[in-house]
Amino acid sequence: MEKAEEENVIVIFPFMAQGHIIPFLALALQLEQKGYSITYVNTPLNIKKIHSSIPPNSSSIRLVEIPFNSSDYGLPPEAENSDDLPYNLVFRLLEVSPCLEPAFRKLLAHLINEQNGVKPLCIIADFFFGWSADVAHDFGVFHAIFSGAGGFGLACYYSIWLNLPHRNNNDKGEFILPDFPEAGKFHVTQLSPSLLIADGSDPFSIFQRKCLPTWVKSDGFLFNTVEEIDKVGLTYFRRILGIPVWAVGPILLPVDETARAGKTTGITPEECIEWLDSKSPNSVLYISFGSQTTISASQMMQLAKALDAGGTNFIWVIRPPIGFDTNTEFIAEEWLPEGFLQRITAEKKGLIVEKWAPQLEILSHKAVAAFLCHCGWNSVLESLINGVSLIGWPIAGDQFYNAKLLAEWIGVCVEVARGINFEVRHEDIKDKIELVMGENDKGKQIRRKALEVKDMIKETIIDNEGFKGSSVKAMEEFFNAALQMKEEAELMEQSN
Ligand code: UDP
Repeated sequence: MEKAEEENVIVIFPFMAQGHIIPFLALALQLEQKGYSITYVNTPLNIKKIHSSIPPNSSSIRLVEIPFNSSDYGLPPEAENSDDLPYNLVFRLLEVSPCLEPAFRKLLAHLINEQNGVKPLCIIADFFFGWSADVAHDFGVFHAIFSGAGGFGLACYYSIWLNLPHRNNNDKGEFILPDFPEAGKFHVTQLSPSLLIADGSDPFSIFQRKCLPTWVKSDGFLFNTVEEIDKVGLTYFRRILGIPVWAVGPILLPVDETARAGKTTGITPEECIEWLDSKSPNSVLYISFGSQTTISASQMMQLAKALDAGGTNFIWVIRPPIGFDTNTEFIAEEWLPEGFLQRITAEKKGLIVEKWAPQLEILSHKAVAAFLCHCGWNSVLESLINGVSLIGWPIAGDQFYNAKLLAEWIGVCVEVARGINFEVRHEDIKDKIELVMGENDKGKQIRRKALEVKDMIKETIIDNEGFKGSSVKAMEEFFNAALQMKEEAELMEQSN
């Protein structure tokens, strides 16, 4: 490695879940384009998967394995990604993840040694790896957390886990967040099952009470979000953590066949585009619940009935319902109404894609008008950057709060259901789809707002001589802070 490259190394370390690996990969590709040398750390099987996602000719991101043997921790063999695990074991993977600390420390020592003592410019780690701030500082390296989640979503998640305010909800099941009252009213239906039962002494609370307070130790917090649409949550973190918070998004993977973070699509992008090309502009609803989520069998039936009864074209990324292994084959005869597949195929109305679709290509197609989604933050950003309005069906974690931000603060979304136990009726789903996609005042307003937000987001990434968008400026501030700490550390070392 050349001297200049040695000075410019950034170590990137996401948690082992597709929803984390993807935004970190997008960040790595963007930083590499700015001239930094990226070392991307993850467990062996994830590294293998990521390999295929890195454009072989245009990227020289260095992939480095950190040892992890899942069966040592009560996990199935070769289970290194939350995507490979049933819901109850996803938490186990999270809970055991601090076991990576000694190996990370060793790896960092090795990297520095290999570069003749030159330290990386910074470490950018996952918010589940707050412990890595201590490791970075022990080596005198700048540490930042990168959140693939949005500011508002993560702020609510943080506040609720640390305060458990829902334990004192009123007779309507409502509560507010004691240190974040400006976020408004919440309802117990906006809580994951793990939060509903949390009392401070359960394993998840114990994990969160160890993990979340470590964030203050970091030198700064990078968010894959946009200041203009997510100020409330970002302001909360500035106040609560007292460290710099930079909104540097949207950082998305390029629409490129290689960059799918190791996933094989259930349909080729070409087939998808061909199908979309045959539809008129703004006529298609895209439905997906993210990289690992699914809904219950009865909800799936209701959703299918709503699509059957309505006149909307749709692409639906489908997986077996809750309770079935999501990696097994989809049994349409069992989980969808009788004749549903035949009808939608004959009418050329719907396209069912099993497991994984080329989402970025779909959302950027002019035929797509709305996105019925679980409100995972990557999906939200991908939708907003394309001016596509949303129908929210949050399932877990920060998704409930993302849906709240989109519906109540930004005005580009209508919520249709919450979680997998919500009794949703097909008539309601059909009405909501028509509300967002149809010729009515509310629908027009939502769609207009979605287009405004698209323009607003595009402006944040403008980097011209005369004008720099807010995300460009935030990224510059982050690099200035990292560089300043590096220079100070070097001066100290020289004077010792
Ligand atoms: N994704 C995709 N095809 C699919 C499902 C998901 O490309 O069929 C991608 C999607 O574009 C997004 C990510 O997977 O980048 C999902 O992240 P998100 O934060 O929306 O949800 P999560 O999977 O973390 O719940």
